[in-house]
Amino acid sequence: MGMFDYVKGPRFDCLNCDYNQENHTWQTKQLENMMGTYYKEMPMPEYLDDKLEVHSLCPQCGAFIQGYVKIDENHLLTDEIEIDEDECHIFESEEDKISIPSL
Ligand SMILES: [Zn+2]
Repeated sequence: MGMFDYVKGPRFDCLNCDYNQENHTWQTKQLENMMGTYYKEMPMPEYLDDKLEVHSLCPQCGAFIQGYVKIDENHLLTDEIEIDEDECHIFESEEDKISIPSL
């Protein structure tokens, strides 16, 4: 039903344009999908290993950026993010944006 949670904190760096933002608000579908907000140092569920998938759209160019936020050895969320370039989508046109149903 298009539900998700927010992850606030990790830095956003666009792969497609020069936009970047500290303390960015990302989205994830790997948690409860109850429109909650998660921050650094919050405990993560057991089913997650050492990373949490997050994604966001660049506010400037609309590129879809996906990455993984690290979960530390105490199973707490960090604000360290690693961008997964293979999963990012750089849109060529307005039509491309509309054709991705999960957004
Ligand atoms: Zn961008």
